[in-house]
Amino acid sequence: MNWYKGLGQSCKCREPLKRHTTLKIGGPARFFIEPRDRDQLQELLRLLRRNKISFHVLGMGSNVLVRDRGFNGAVVRLHAPGFKKITFGSNYVIAGSGVSLVRLLLGCYQEGFSGLEFLTGIPGTTGGALVMNAGIKEKCIADALESVTVMDKNGSIKTIVNKDARFSYRSSCLKKFVVLDGRFRVRRRPRLLIKKRMDELRAWRHRNQDYSFPSAGCVFKNPVNDSAGRLIDACGLKGVIIGGAAVSLLHANFIVNRGKASAADVLKLMLLMKTQVKRRFSITLTPEIEIWR
Ligand SMILES: Cc1cc2nc3c(=O)[nH]c(=O)nc-3n(C[C@H](O)[C@H](O)[C@H](O)COP(=O)(O)OP(=O)(O)OC[C@H]3O[C@@H](n4cnc5c(N)ncnc54)[C@H](O)[C@@H]3O)c2cc1C
Repeated sequence: MNWYKGLGQSCKCREPLKRHTTLKIGGPARFFIEPRDRDQLQELLRLLRRNKISFHVLGMGSNVLVRDRGFNGAVVRLHAPGFKKITFGSNYVIAGSGVSLVRLLLGCYQEGFSGLEFLTGIPGTTGGALVMNAGIKEKCIADALESVTVMDKNGSIKTIVNKDARFSYRSSCLKKFVVLDGRFRVRRRPRLLIKKRMDELRAWRHRNQDYSFPSAGCVFKNPVNDSAGRLIDACGLKGVIIGGAAVSLLHANFIVNRGKASAADVLKLMLLMKTQVKRRFSITLTPEIEIWR
């Protein structure tokens, strides 16, 4: 099958996805494609549809667990410069979906714009953060978003305003599109104060989250009015190891890859955490990370 020939250098076959996930786990993608710009993305979506090839869009891979056998479809990553533009206005910033949150926050700080500091320390791209409605307890990215530009699976581009994106806790309707960029509300603020807030948040993360090994952050969503980490910890699961994967000693809702973990190890640990919490508290945990089959 040579449907991808026209895409040239942008397409690789059997690319190991462990190279592209923060857990450092994941078998190969049958096709791994990084379109150059919107036009090539449009062409790609048309080709995928015509050839009946299913696909996932990948950001920084900080919220996905890819199975060991990989993904028998196409993985599309918006990593080319055409998807990494940042534009500042008088009271807004537009960030391409491939812009990392680190770069977006740095840009806002340099321009003296406040409003997105709460995202400090969350790995990932702007596109991934929008799809996941990433955030912290008090705030999520939807709170700062005005609108998002998306491409649908037929290649049509449209703007979705905040209220139509169906944002909820770590969820949105954006997954069914390819997110191209997001427009966020920001306001002028002294840089010193922006930096202070970001430093506080960074310090808080380093006290409370495990950065010693690769992970995908919180594995399960917090149940209403409770914390998945507290429940898992109360079951005595911190430090439990299966294969190369372990429940973090610092944060019980983190699974870390101690070196050679497989996706199967992580899935077994998740099942153990879920079963124990259900048995002890009658609460069913639901995954926050996305499992790619
Ligand atoms: C150490 C650590 C700490 C973390 N802390 C937090 C936290 O405090 N709060 C929080 O919310 N999350 C946290 N996370 C999880 C993760 O960083 C976020 O969910 C992040 O927003 C995912 O972005 P990504 O670019 O890595 O997306 P990916 O993991 O690559 O993808 C996530 C989902 O978005 C889709 N997607 C990605 N880009 C696009 C696009 N352009 N168009 C359409 N779909 C797309 C993917 O298909 C997938 O469904 C943490 C993760 C780690 C490793």
